[in-house]
Amino acid sequence: MTSTHAYAAHGATTPLGPFSFNRRSPGPNDVLIGIRYCGVCHSDLHMVKNEWGQTIYPIVPGHEIVGEILEVGSSVRAFKPGDLAGVGCMVDSCRTCPECKDGQEQYCEKGMILTYNSPDRHTGGITYGGYATHIVVDQAFALRVPLNLDLAGTAPLLCAGITTYSPLRHWGVGKGSRVGVVGLGGLGHMALKLAHAFGAHTTLFTTSAGKAEDARRLGADAVVVSKNAEEMKPYANSLDFILDTAGASHNLDLYLQLLKRDGTLCLVGLPEHGHPSPNIGTLIHKRRRLAGSLIGGIRETQEMLDFCAAHNIVSDIELIPIQKINEAYERMLKSDVRYRFVIDLGTLR
Ligand code: NAP
Ligand code: ZN
Ligand code: ZN
Repeated sequence: MTSTHAYAAHGATTPLGPFSFNRRSPGPNDVLIGIRYCGVCHSDLHMVKNEWGQTIYPIVPGHEIVGEILEVGSSVRAFKPGDLAGVGCMVDSCRTCPECKDGQEQYCEKGMILTYNSPDRHTGGITYGGYATHIVVDQAFALRVPLNLDLAGTAPLLCAGITTYSPLRHWGVGKGSRVGVVGLGGLGHMALKLAHAFGAHTTLFTTSAGKAEDARRLGADAVVVSKNAEEMKPYANSLDFILDTAGASHNLDLYLQLLKRDGTLCLVGLPEHGHPSPNIGTLIHKRRRLAGSLIGGIRETQEMLDFCAAHNIVSDIELIPIQKINEAYERMLKSDVRYRFVIDLGTLR
């Protein structure tokens, strides 16, 4: 067993604070990772505050994990001590259902095992995430981390990266596509970088006028302040695909009406109270589609990491010591993230 230092929340309204527990001894297929960096996803905040109504306390959040392999089980061939490795949102799934067989473990028919706040079949308790010094994970759910990328900037690829890469790929975004991205936070800034790398013409829709310059630097060809009706007007019926990353409830018609015939609005943001139902006529009149997407499978996550390595793409981050996590949550709630907080776990050792 590995004695592990972490940060946990003990209730929906209590701040995160120091917490210690033991990680299991690595089994034959497990790797023990010494965590170097962990990104801070808005999902961590939703979960800590029990906004999705399923949180079990104490909760140790964190699913954008990168670190160094410290130990491997006897059957592990893919990793050896000293290698870099990553862990994203899942640490296991049934591995036998059609979704798992298809490499879509996030849609596992029996339900994936989340990196935190899922039943832990090894310990009988609850899984604890990456705001911690160590993690033990089956090699099938560990990712190879490229050596040429900044390690701290790579951490957010494990959730923000794959959650935007997967739908952009699924809906065939590429040269000639006209794409919209809603919200410039952790997911949104990765969506801009990736859509730009795929060759799409990309427009950011933001509620924060002050982010326009950054958005262009990150890959946006145009920036629209979504609260300004005059700015929105010229975009009606003009986009093939919109990825909506907003973590707060808003009017979907605002974006649906920007789609061309057969265009798709894909939701990845999951606000506490959902969104008001859109106008059905807006969907019907141009055969528009409203869709959703959940992270991405392990195989596709590795593909995304390799794509980012080849195109030198990492997240733009603010590195924080774990002791600043509660402040970071406050800022994230005010849309004041540039553009992902990443925890340096060195501060917990
Ligand atoms: P984040 O860093 O806080 O960014 C969210 C951005 O949404 C904000 O920066 C803001 O950008 C925009 N926004 C906030 N309030 C808005 C409003 N009322 N209307 C329109 N836009 C608004 O959060 P994140 O980590 O990117 O996560 C975003 C959402 O995705 C969260 O709900 C999270 O739980 C979810 N998520 C889903 C998946 C999945 O698999 N589907 C995976 C990870 C995360 P501007 O200032 O530019 O407006
Ligand atoms: Zn996440
Ligand atoms: Zn399955």
